[in-house]
Amino acid sequence: MRVVVDLSRCQGYAQCAFLAPDAFRMHGEEALMYAPNPDDAQREQVLRAAAACPLQAILVDRVDGPDTSVGTSPS
Ligand code: SF4
Repeated sequence: MRVVVDLSRCQGYAQCAFLAPDAFRMHGEEALMYAPNPDDAQREQVLRAAAACPLQAILVDRVDGPDTSVGTSPS
């Protein structure tokens, strides 16, 4: 799965790091580090973290790219 955090929105509330510590981690007081390609086993945690972010800064599987795993392919 793919994760993107809009770091210009993120205010370091750390909700995500609390809910999905394997994918999101606070580095210092405000800087967020995250795994851009967390394992699918973490999907539920990551989705929960994305939903909990007060700023909706976490985007899951919204990256346009050739290897998106969701969606239907044409033809
Ligand atoms: S929950 Fe949202 S605002 Fe808080 S650290 Fe995570 S991405 Fe940033």
